[in-house]
Amino acid sequence: MSRARFALLLAVVPAALAAQTSDTTSSPWPPLKVVDIRWMDTTVSACTDFNQFANGGWLAHDTIPAAYASSGVTRDMSDRNELVVRSVLEDAAAHRNALPPRGTPRKLGTYYATCMDSTAIETGGATPIRRWLRGLDSVTTRARLLPEIAKLQILGVNVVFRYSPDVDPHDAARYLTWLYQGGLGLPDRDYYFTPGAAADSTRDAYVAHVAKYFRLAGRDSAGAGRAATQVLALETSLAQASLTRVERRDPAKTDHPMSAAQLAKLTPGIAWPRYFRSLGVRVPITKANVAEPAFVQRVDSLLHAAPLATWRAYLTYHAIATAAPWLSTPFVQEDFAFRSRFSGARALLPRWKRCLQEADGDIGEALGQAYVAKTFPPEARARARAVIDDIRAAFRERLLHLTWMSDSTRAQALDKLARMGEKIGYPDRWRDYSRLRVAEGPFVLNVSQANAFEWERTANRPGSPVDTTEWGITVPTVNAYYDPSKNEMVFPAGALVPQTFDPNADDGANYGSLGGSWAGHELTHGFDDEGRHYDAKGNLRDWWQPSDSMHFVEQAALVEQQFDSYIQIDTFHVNGKLTEGENIADWGGLLTGYDALQRALTRDGRPGLIEGYTPEQRYFIGYAQSWRVHNRPERLRTRVTVDPHAPEQWRVNGPLSNIAAFAQAFGCKDGDPMVRPKDKIPSIW
Ligand SMILES: [Zn+2]
Repeated sequence: MSRARFALLLAVVPAALAAQTSDTTSSPWPPLKVVDIRWMDTTVSACTDFNQFANGGWLAHDTIPAAYASSGVTRDMSDRNELVVRSVLEDAAAHRNALPPRGTPRKLGTYYATCMDSTAIETGGATPIRRWLRGLDSVTTRARLLPEIAKLQILGVNVVFRYSPDVDPHDAARYLTWLYQGGLGLPDRDYYFTPGAAADSTRDAYVAHVAKYFRLAGRDSAGAGRAATQVLALETSLAQASLTRVERRDPAKTDHPMSAAQLAKLTPGIAWPRYFRSLGVRVPITKANVAEPAFVQRVDSLLHAAPLATWRAYLTYHAIATAAPWLSTPFVQEDFAFRSRFSGARALLPRWKRCLQEADGDIGEALGQAYVAKTFPPEARARARAVIDDIRAAFRERLLHLTWMSDSTRAQALDKLARMGEKIGYPDRWRDYSRLRVAEGPFVLNVSQANAFEWERTANRPGSPVDTTEWGITVPTVNAYYDPSKNEMVFPAGALVPQTFDPNADDGANYGSLGGSWAGHELTHGFDDEGRHYDAKGNLRDWWQPSDSMHFVEQAALVEQQFDSYIQIDTFHVNGKLTEGENIADWGGLLTGYDALQRALTRDGRPGLIEGYTPEQRYFIGYAQSWRVHNRPERLRTRVTVDPHAPEQWRVNGPLSNIAAFAQAFGCKDGDPMVRPKDKIPSIW
């Protein structure tokens, strides 16, 4: 994935900007532009701090709304997309009784209406999940643990580990059973061990949060406090056996294919066939990839050694935590109070936004079809494809002329590029929701039914051919991704609108944003520190000559050092290793997008200055404005640990200060802050 997974965000535009626009009568917001010169701060030199130059005018005026952890591009675009989705949902909800009972529109309407029915939700309190909780209270033998874990996992509760039929890394045409680590309530394993007062306070807050849920569910204070301590103890043990995020970026560290017999030998105490049966898996599981073997071994020992009371507390807490956002106000507020420690948000999102985002996450393809019909004309798809075609051609040229790459590696890289798939806009085939069950409430059970539907759709995939038409994100999403195991880039319609892209904007702007920041970025993920380990078909295979690998690793280490030197917030530095792949992709995307722009200018003709800037200058401004983001400090602190993307100011200034064409476009000189010394500039793309 490329873009930070931002919370979806609400637009606030300085009044001065709003007043300058002409169409504010029909829309609450001024139209977004790919390059908007009103956001710039030209009192700062482009050669001193380009992020400030491109975005400083906006940053100076922006106030992050209370319900958000950040503001900027993604939030502004999501706001507009959400208005479209909202109209679809409200329409379906209002007329649902007149719609065919088994049809998808009726299900959408019922889903949204039951989520919006706050009266029924308040009256219900914790009643909708009482049956789950009673079931967990009755787990009095160890033999019952695995079936209960499986039952919760089907309903979408993240406990212990995760069964997931994913692409086989050694036969990318087929699905294989994967077992992944999981089951933690804090945002990352590191939170369980980080020393210091701030980390201690987070752990204390977590224990208090868990205890609060138990009290809300009817436990007495002493029992709730005891259960919360047990939850932290069990999770700390799971966290100790978990790989770090940096370790998990290395495909070799999570590549442990084994037969059923080897799996049984690794974890003699886990009755895998019984567990798989409890998950509703009917196909024989003859092999699996255990992403983190030490983790499942830890689970095996905990299943036998940890007290049953501790297990009951752990499973109960996660069941409540999963349901809490969809129960009555005390649960919702406790959920928000805890999460906002990590996001910095000061207020809950309005209910309609929470419901809309849940519907998008749970049954998003049902929404996507209606979204496309309303907002994504075929011309926009064709124009976006033309930009992406130029990106592919430009990267091919780069590969052909790389001096450090051997011909043998080059031939395979060219093959990988030629076979790289792309999905633009929306799926060719929409998901069939005929087996989804949606009832007139309680809403939380509709959420668990949607999870169960998704489970049933995928649980029996091991051994069967990979569905190459499937999408990993929904159509209205403001995001994109590269999937190494399918060797494909995916750009949903929700991302192919202003500010990312405007079919009517100039090439400089579009190639900087959609070209460099999105398409070029995603494409080079196929060749970054992670993606380069996969071949043209998506198989995990080392196709690099050793000398080429060595060059890449050495140069990537320079990128790591560059970003390690940047301050993220307070005394925290950016984690250069965690963000290495994204930083290489940003830089490679910029170089490729620049070449693609030159192709377009040669082909289509060079315009004169637009709003006072050359096409090349608008290219770099377009890139920088695609990272127009303003973060709360809490969010920046959390991102140090969990986010493989560096803060946006460094996603702008970091790669640009390595690029000679940037210095040339703005007349920057050696010694300027935006021009790094030549001997420190890595050579990859
Ligand atoms: Zn990326």
